[in-house]
Amino acid sequence: MEIVRYEIGDVVRLKKPHPCGSDQWEIYRTGLDFGLRCRGCGHRVMIPRPKFEKAVRQRWPHGEGAPPVVLPPRPGQRKGRQR
Ligand SMILES: [Zn+2]
Repeated sequence: MEIVRYEIGDVVRLKKPHPCGSDQWEIYRTGLDFGLRCRGCGHRVMIPRPKFEKAVRQRWPHGEGAPPVVLPPRPGQRKGRQR
């Protein structure tokens, strides 16, 4: 099995998207637990390493090449008043 060295600043796509609609997370802490920040809403979570490694679908070292996060409009959120 290939050992992946995750580093702070890496961006990963997880199996399960966050409720905000983004499935990309930025690593802000490594170790026994991984600290992840949602790229959609900035929410932070801590995940035990084994669980994190199983959930990762894709990885962009230092976030390079990661596609921009596009959030779907949320029901109940006001729209159309950008200006
Ligand atoms: Zn989120």
